[in-house]
Amino acid sequence: MQTTTCDICKKKIEDPVTGRTFFYFAEHSICEPCKDNLDDQLRTALRGKDPFTYEWFDKVVGDNISKSISKGK
Ligand SMILES: [Zn+2]
Repeated sequence: MQTTTCDICKKKIEDPVTGRTFFYFAEHSICEPCKDNLDDQLRTALRGKDPFTYEWFDKVVGDNISKSISKGK
């Protein structure tokens, strides 16, 4: 059986399905609950962000993932 480990919570994901049970963000493997948390954080960061650029967005995604990994959730 194939397994992937979530970079944030270190949980094993069995038979990972990319885009459904796990996600790639900024070269990290992230499980669904962690992606939901990340989405919430990004939604807050995106609010009021003007002008929007993909460079900025990539940086915010990377920063939030690093923060989540150091917190372990
Ligand atoms: Zn996770």
